[in-house]
Amino acid sequence: MDLKKLASTLIPDDNLLPLEEYEKAYPERQLEKGAEVTRLAPSPTGFIHLGNLYSALADERIAHTTGGIFYLRIEDTDLKRKVDGAVESVIRSLNYFGVNFDEGAEIDSPLNKYGPYYQRQRADIYRAYAKDLIERGLAYPCFCTEDELNAVREEQTAGKEITGYYGKYAKCRNLSEEQIYANLKAGKPFVIRLKSQGDTSNKITFRDAIKGDITVTENDQDVVILKSDGIPTYHFAHAIDDHFMHTTLVIRGEEWLSSLPIHLELFKVLGFALPKYGHTCSLMKVDNGVKRKLSKRKDPELSLDYYRSAGYYPKAVVKYLMTILNSNFEEWERKNPQADYRDFKFSISKMGKSGALFDIDKLNDISKAELSTLSAEQTYDFLNGWVQEFGTDKDRQHFADKQYIIKILNLICGIGGKKRRKDIVRAESGVRMIDYFFDDTFAPDYCYRFDNATVNAVIEGFAAVYDEADDNSAWFAKVKQIAADNGFAAEMSDYKANPESYKGSVADVAEILRIAVTGMPNSPDLCTVMGILGKSRTLARLNAGKR
Ligand code: GLU
Repeated sequence: MDLKKLASTLIPDDNLLPLEEYEKAYPERQLEKGAEVTRLAPSPTGFIHLGNLYSALADERIAHTTGGIFYLRIEDTDLKRKVDGAVESVIRSLNYFGVNFDEGAEIDSPLNKYGPYYQRQRADIYRAYAKDLIERGLAYPCFCTEDELNAVREEQTAGKEITGYYGKYAKCRNLSEEQIYANLKAGKPFVIRLKSQGDTSNKITFRDAIKGDITVTENDQDVVILKSDGIPTYHFAHAIDDHFMHTTLVIRGEEWLSSLPIHLELFKVLGFALPKYGHTCSLMKVDNGVKRKLSKRKDPELSLDYYRSAGYYPKAVVKYLMTILNSNFEEWERKNPQADYRDFKFSISKMGKSGALFDIDKLNDISKAELSTLSAEQTYDFLNGWVQEFGTDKDRQHFADKQYIIKILNLICGIGGKKRRKDIVRAESGVRMIDYFFDDTFAPDYCYRFDNATVNAVIEGFAAVYDEADDNSAWFAKVKQIAADNGFAAEMSDYKANPESYKGSVADVAEILRIAVTGMPNSPDLCTVMGILGKSRTLARLNAGKR
């Protein structure tokens, strides 16, 4: 068969360069020895998830701790999945978590010498290489229709055979020249398939940078490399792009392990050196006692937008991911509590080999701890950032009074007090936690545990003597007096010795006042809360709290 003629009939493009020209256009990168070039290669679907961040963080850490490059390539070969603005959203989301690209799609960088970074814009390279494979008898046109392929799959499934296009099932593999040209003449659409040289009885031992040695079976599938619209499949584009962009380490999800044999064969027939691969394990969660993969449909916490809209402190999410990425990170953190996580020596060999367990309680603990290292001013800035983007109009009005919020934050975070409190888990809950300091969001639950007459007597008694100028001890002396006046023990010890002689203790009196003023039975120091609210608002709340 005249393969040259076949190749130029199937791929007639006259703009394709000789292959050496492509090699020249993408010269070796000038990097230090040991520098790793990594990439994130998402489809532009607009959905960026925790797994992407997990993987991107590993890519970014490895590139940046070895003096390498981390770039962004957009795998847009499937137009159906394209969403406008998705690329910007990937960049913005990762940037929010402190993960930044050096090079790539929509990145303004002088390093952008290996593009285009959108696969759709690289069509000629793929076509040039597919054409070369056809000329060398390593690829061929396939005219099978969807229905024919389905019928084959059903037959294979029924016979419990491996499904796919291989061996005797690869019907177009051995079409004669006449048959091919007759099909073309009849206008039948075609795809280009790899003419696999592999044999499944051969095993290959492969060293995965994360999983270690794994044995895979040689590929014998005649996979599609160019679809009928001339656009490559993931497999083909992966081999070509990672070769020309000089990726040294491909970190990708373990769902790609099953196609690894295809990639090994593609690199071989294309004559490209194989990059290193690291297949990351999936993020799992325990759901009703059963461990399962995080799912887009069932778990909102898989989406990265969730962390932003819930107001997680970005550094906390990153640190949490570091704890699951590298098992020795936590210990390093304990020893270096003040250090930046970027100073940690990230190591791909310490990455988990199987199912990483995602534990939101642990994330919450890390988030609380991180937030408790901020000053009131920094806490304000963080909460305010969330409020401006995700808060209500009322939140925005509240946050316009920075001084007032700072006073509240000093109190609820225990800043300047004996013990720093760790109550704020994330911005959203932090903002809701201070709602009661504002009349328009004060939503009291008057859950008193005493009869109305007692409640009213306590409130009226206290309102009559409340003085904003009182310090904590003068304030508490007044609460004790109200307790004594109303049949409550002023001293806890008296109450404990003789509980039946009293209606309750001074703590119960304080609770009544607390419920009236904050609308809740628990709050930070009540004397300070009253001080922040100011006298007229405190008195108004006391009055409104009577039953
Ligand atoms: N586009 C592929 C994905 O989003 C990329 C996999 C890879 O990193 O090679 O899963």
